[in-house]
Amino acid sequence: MSDVFDKDKRSEVMSRVRSSGNESTELRLLKLFKDNKITGWRRNYTVDGKPDFVFLKLKAAIFVDGCFWHGHDCRNTRPEANEEYWRKKRERNISRDREVTERFIKRGWKVLRIWECELKKSRIEETLARIKSFLSSEYSG
Ligand SMILES: [Zn+2]
Repeated sequence: MSDVFDKDKRSEVMSRVRSSGNESTELRLLKLFKDNKITGWRRNYTVDGKPDFVFLKLKAAIFVDGCFWHGHDCRNTRPEANEEYWRKKRERNISRDREVTERFIKRGWKVLRIWECELKKSRIEETLARIKSFLSSEYSG
């Protein structure tokens, strides 16, 4: 299948996908916290690495990663045009994610990364269980 967008247009479209995508997945997680009375989090807390949510008392950070941008191996958004370009971009993001996670762990934090596709209705229960176990004191990474 050929791409309907030229390169510039594609960049513009993808940058919009990125900003709106992040926002909606973050909001979905926010709703999940509220619906399940999960408290103690702060959103967009300014700390190096910018986790989406932090639980300061627990020294716990949660990141919501867009499947496309962070290179999840799922069926979400794999453009065929400019494959090389996007692949490089994703690889940069993946290694940055890894560095950020390591930095948090070195400082005694625990880190949970949630994929965008794990916030779909069909997987939300499973994800909620993961979050609860992550936030419990027994969690060991
Ligand atoms: Zn995914």
